[in-house]
Amino acid sequence: MNHERIHTAQQREMLFVFFYLVYVIEWLVRLPMKGNAYRNISFEREAYANQRNPDYLKSRPLYAWRWYMRHPGRKK
Ligand SMILES: [Zn+2]
Repeated sequence: MNHERIHTAQQREMLFVFFYLVYVIEWLVRLPMKGNAYRNISFEREAYANQRNPDYLKSRPLYAWRWYMRHPGRKK
């Protein structure tokens, strides 16, 4: 599934440990906020927003998830 392939690209650029670190920290920060904390994690928003685009990873900029972190509540 493309969703998981997007996570693999995120993990690779984050050297795996930092991916899980940022993932858990962002989840904890978003827990008290409105909405689903898991779905609001930047990594998940990037994956959900682009999972239907099979060519997404070909043109994906490095650290593309940071756009989602800077723009909470926005789709692309
Ligand atoms: Zn996911």
